[in-house]
Amino acid sequence: MTAVPRIGNLINGEWHFDGTEREVLHKYTGEVLAIAHDATPAQVTDAVTAARKASESPLNPYQRFEILSKVADAIARDKERLALEVCRESGLTLKDCLGDMDRAVETMRTSAEEAKRITGEMVPIAGAPGFAHRMAFTVRYPVGVVGAITPFNSPLNTVAHKVGPALAAGNAVVVKPSPFTPIAAASLCTMLLEAGLPPGFIGLLLGPGDPVGTSLVDDERVDFFTFTGSTATGKAISARLGMRRGTMECGNVSGTIVCADANVRDAAEQCARGAFRKAGQVCTSVQRLYVHADILEEFLGHLTTAASTLVVGDPEDTATDIGPMISEAAAKRAEEWVNEAVAQGARLIHGGQRDGVAFAPTILTEVPSDARVVCEEIFAPVVSVIPFKDFGEALRVVNDTPYGLQAGIFTRDLNQALEATKRLRVGGVVINSTSSTRADLMPYGGVKDSGYGTEGPKYAAREMTEERLVLLEPAKDGDR
Ligand code: NAD
Repeated sequence: MTAVPRIGNLINGEWHFDGTEREVLHKYTGEVLAIAHDATPAQVTDAVTAARKASESPLNPYQRFEILSKVADAIARDKERLALEVCRESGLTLKDCLGDMDRAVETMRTSAEEAKRITGEMVPIAGAPGFAHRMAFTVRYPVGVVGAITPFNSPLNTVAHKVGPALAAGNAVVVKPSPFTPIAAASLCTMLLEAGLPPGFIGLLLGPGDPVGTSLVDDERVDFFTFTGSTATGKAISARLGMRRGTMECGNVSGTIVCADANVRDAAEQCARGAFRKAGQVCTSVQRLYVHADILEEFLGHLTTAASTLVVGDPEDTATDIGPMISEAAAKRAEEWVNEAVAQGARLIHGGQRDGVAFAPTILTEVPSDARVVCEEIFAPVVSVIPFKDFGEALRVVNDTPYGLQAGIFTRDLNQALEATKRLRVGGVVINSTSSTRADLMPYGGVKDSGYGTEGPKYAAREMTEERLVLLEPAKDGDR
């Protein structure tokens, strides 16, 4: 029998295995995959101390480019093994995880490229009255130490989206991943060290949000926080930051609109993917679907057909489309919200069943507007289809939520598409695809309760710098 591997806390290039033990489970079989050790309070302090020291001698941009490029190559080379590792600890299907590895390669490669491009700007200072003889420009310097706190639902690529830009910008970074999924984060740290990153530039702290995450947040020597997770946690972290800056990538109750002139089959098939992939555990998952009343029946037919072809089960089986949810508690919550909506008058068109930790792809209609399935983030494979007649009303209801991450609209009418881009108050409007569409290089981030700040290596790296003005004035002639 092979021993269960241990995952420790990474401090100044050394792994420490002395904190409280926590089992990391296979999310489908329940098998113990690894024993992770929670970081002790002293280890949180030590990881920040090591990062602080490293940040005093930043790597030059070409060194950062080379290291991040090597990590991109390493992920590509080891894609199958890493995908299986992520599949087991997160429950995401192997198919989804292989896709996520390709995305993580892109995230690291784009971060590597950005390391060489970070720049300030010329300031047209000569145009100011009395400044004609001066020159000015800005330079972007690393903030110093970046703290990164990440969720369970894309455990390698989300960490890559924090670590890649933070290092590209010349910072040291300390990562606190979700206690559900520490294995991928540890693998990424190992790859960074193997690629030649000097030890203090990457730290890893394992354990729960409180006390490990809170202690990291409360350490004033961490200059910047990059967080992805729920809105409640984002607000709690934000409140503790004081004058320190951060990026909060939080939750959403994503809306997508399907207009009467859309390609109905294509829209329904895309919406099925956007609602059910990763068991709906995606921040932009299609949760509220506003469909023009004239095409409702046809759309529901295609959506139900697409849902009924999806295989729910063992995520390691390449035939599986929907794996388990992150925990049985999460699956039970989804079941409770669906049952509650049905009791409130919603009609269950498809799915609704829970089998242990797995939840079937579920389609609801006639959902009351105050049901939790449309008001709160469900983070499960559940979509509510709501008919509309008036396009302006559809835009209004998509906006009628505290959140604002991304929205989608299917239409061939350019004016409607443009109207949506003007009126939807979200970080991104996707035309002829769903709210759940993302390329890793694009700017990505929400407004309102979905958070603030922008991800995507170019944008994140920029946020993790301080811009400093340099103003040049010729020295005066003469000896004194
Ligand atoms: P979560 O908020 O429960 O946890 C996220 C991380 O924060 C974990 O590492 C957790 O340990 C830590 N944490 C919890 N409380 C903390 C505290 N008080 N101080 C410091 N750290 C703390 O989120 P989750 O359940 O892991 O992930 C699901 C959520 O993430 C969903 O709401 C989803 O929408 C969101 N998400 C958002 C995006 C985005 O880009 N906007 C992307 C993925 C996921």
